[in-house]
Amino acid sequence: MMSREELRQLAEFECRAANEMAVTFYFQPPTPKDKSHREEAIQAKEIVRRTLQELERNGRNPEVIQDLEKILHLVERLHGSRKAIFACAGRSFWREYDLPASVSETRLLVNRRFHLKPLAPLFSQHPRLCIALIDRQNARFLELYFERLRDLGGLTHPVPHHKNSDGHGGYDGSHAERHSGDEVRKHYQSVVDFLKTAAVRRQFDALVIGCHEVNWPDFERQLHPDLAKKILGRFSAEFLNMSNERVAEEANRIRRESLTAHHQGMLREAIEEARANGRAVTGLRRVLRATELGEVETILMSQEYAARAVECTNCRHIDSHLVPYCPVCGRATRKLEDVCEALVPVALRNNIALILLARDETLDRVGNIAAWLRFRADQNINQLRAAS
Ligand SMILES: [Zn+2]
Repeated sequence: MMSREELRQLAEFECRAANEMAVTFYFQPPTPKDKSHREEAIQAKEIVRRTLQELERNGRNPEVIQDLEKILHLVERLHGSRKAIFACAGRSFWREYDLPASVSETRLLVNRRFHLKPLAPLFSQHPRLCIALIDRQNARFLELYFERLRDLGGLTHPVPHHKNSDGHGGYDGSHAERHSGDEVRKHYQSVVDFLKTAAVRRQFDALVIGCHEVNWPDFERQLHPDLAKKILGRFSAEFLNMSNERVAEEANRIRRESLTAHHQGMLREAIEEARANGRAVTGLRRVLRATELGEVETILMSQEYAARAVECTNCRHIDSHLVPYCPVCGRATRKLEDVCEALVPVALRNNIALILLARDETLDRVGNIAAWLRFRADQNINQLRAAS
C-alpha cells in the first residue's frame, strides 16, 4: 500500500511535453477463489491491447506504447495479486503499488494526469483501528490498518478464587464477591488506561470493542468520554476462541457500517447547511468555486460522478461552463471529459478529503456533488455560528 505522501506526489504529476502521457493501470482480479489467475490475466491483457491498438491508430508517441507493453508483460507475473501502476515513460516515471481489496475494477487510463479517484477516499475509509477484546480477566489489543492485523499485546488479571464461602479465612460469601468485583474493576481500569495512553500517542484513529454482552455495561461505566467518542462499534464475542481472521472480519464489518452511516449523515447535514447558506455547498459550480477559494474541507460525490468541464491551460482554473477562454486570466482553456481528472488531484494536493457515496436520490437532486467548508470567505464564521 502507498502512503499518503506517495498519493499526494502522484496527484502532483502532470504531463507537459508532447511525448508525455500518464498511464494508470488498476489490476483487480474479481474473485480470486472462483477464477483461475490465467483468466484474469487474459482479461487484463485484452484491455491493454485494445488501448494499444487505439493509440497506435492515432499515431501516438512511442513512449506510451512502451509503457503499455511493459504492463502487458507484468500482467503475466501478477498471479492474481492486486496492483496499481502509474507510468510515464516520457519522464522515466514508473510506480507500482499493492492495492487493498475492492478499490477499483481492472482499468487502464491514458491521460494528462493519473487517475486517482478510486484511491483518494482510501485513507478516510481506512482509519487506523484498534480492536480491544475484553472479558472480566483478560484483554487483547490488535491493530487493523488496511488488511494488516498486528498484535499490540494483552493484559491478564486473574480473579482470585475463594473456595470457601463459609467464613473460612475471614472471607464470607458477599465479601468474596465484592472482592472479585473490585478485581474486575481494576482490570477494566487498566484496559481503559492502556487505551487512553495509545490514544494520546495517536496510535489509533478509531476503536472497535469485542466484549461479551453481559460485561459491556460494567466496562462502559469506566470508559472515559474521549475514548467512548472513538468507538465505531462493538461486537459480542468470547474472544479467547476467536481467530484473528474472524476478529478482522468483525472489525471490518463495523468499520464499513459505521462509515456508511457517518457519510450519509454528512451528506444530509451538508444539504441542509447549503440550503441555509451555511458551511456547505452543493452542485459542481459552487463546489469548484469554494475549492478555488480554499474553503473546502471535504468533497462528497457519487461513485460514478463525472461531468464535463474546462480547465485553463495557464492558471489551472476549472470551470463548469465550457468556455473557450479562462474567465480569470483570459488564456485558452482545454476540455476535460470528466472534471474529476483535474478536481481529484487538486483535492489530494490540498488535503481535501474525498468521500465517494453510492448513488441515491438525495445526492441526485443536488447534482451528485457537495462540499463541506472550513469557512466561507464571504461570511464571518462567528456571525454564522451565532445565527445558527
Ligand atoms: Zn486562467
